[in-house]
Amino acid sequence: MSNINNLLEMAVEREPLSREQAYELYDNAPLQALCSVADAIRRSVVEDPNVVTWQIDRNVNITNVCKSGCKFCNFHCKPHESEKAYITTMAEYRQKIDEALKLGADQLLLQGGLHPRLGIDFYETLFRQIKHEYPTLKLNALGAPEVAHIAAVSKLTTMEVLTRLKAAGLDTLPGAGAEILAADVRKRISPAKPSEREWIVVMHEAHKLGIPTTATMMYGHVEHPHQRIDHLISIRDLQSLKPETSRGFTAFIPWVFCPAGTELEREGIAPRFSATEYLRIIAMSRIILHNIRNIQASWLTVGREVAEMALHSGANDMGSIMIEENVVSSAGASTRFDKEAMKATIRRAGFTPRLRDQLYNYREE
Ligand code: SF4
Repeated sequence: MSNINNLLEMAVEREPLSREQAYELYDNAPLQALCSVADAIRRSVVEDPNVVTWQIDRNVNITNVCKSGCKFCNFHCKPHESEKAYITTMAEYRQKIDEALKLGADQLLLQGGLHPRLGIDFYETLFRQIKHEYPTLKLNALGAPEVAHIAAVSKLTTMEVLTRLKAAGLDTLPGAGAEILAADVRKRISPAKPSEREWIVVMHEAHKLGIPTTATMMYGHVEHPHQRIDHLISIRDLQSLKPETSRGFTAFIPWVFCPAGTELEREGIAPRFSATEYLRIIAMSRIILHNIRNIQASWLTVGREVAEMALHSGANDMGSIMIEENVVSSAGASTRFDKEAMKATIRRAGFTPRLRDQLYNYREE
């Protein structure tokens, strides 16, 4: 136990843990001690320890056509499935954005599949048109796999794609598509998706261009538990390489694999969710990621009660009410929040809710 206590003290002092030290804490520290240390770190790094932030944005899917075919994804359809395939039209964007603005949104989360025919020209035109019609709306769009895919379709480098997307109106890059940053895991769950190396390269390039990003982890499928810790260390190490002037990763968001109806479920990958394991992950995220300020509780995948507990285990943010979400919901995540439910949940956990923007600045409602 004394070694565990030493490691917990190192964590409180925000000293970087080695891989072996992190494994030791993850495997053997009592949950209550882990959460209490993570909570102490949260209190020391956030602007106001009594506040938990939340956001209003709208998730719009650009297209559901995807050539990747990840085995955990029920959302996509294959390029030849023409009866299901769609590309969202400008008229549909207008209707969805107008609804979102009425509800107080300041941001659009734009994500979609890896459409084999949509290259840089399509995305530049789309972003420019949205920004032209809604100049104050922030675009949190695509993700590292989409950027790598657009580069391949358009015969450009990922740096060129990011540069052009930024010029066309991209404000921030979501951290989606990280899953677990390990080649053997990706080979099992998403063999046709851009690799973990490409995810890391694109994120680093975004940071060099001054595009803030988030980082995510989807766990609880085929990975070894230590690969979750390896994932956190990869994110921490990448953040340490960002230029001084860049925000880099503004937040880390771990979520649990939702198996319902997925190919992985058909292959016999059973749900492995446990609330205590999720809280361990949140606490370890706060402890290992000493250079990332915000840790988000994923109410969508773990539900309201567990998300509340996460706020006492290192998380300081509840994410967005997400006016529309189709990807995780199509694999069984069923929790839904409106503004009042979000604020009530944060209050019930003992905190003051504050609305925020994508860069974690407070907003007035
Ligand atoms: S998770 Fe994304 S990349 Fe994978 S199949 Fe679904 S839409 Fe395509």
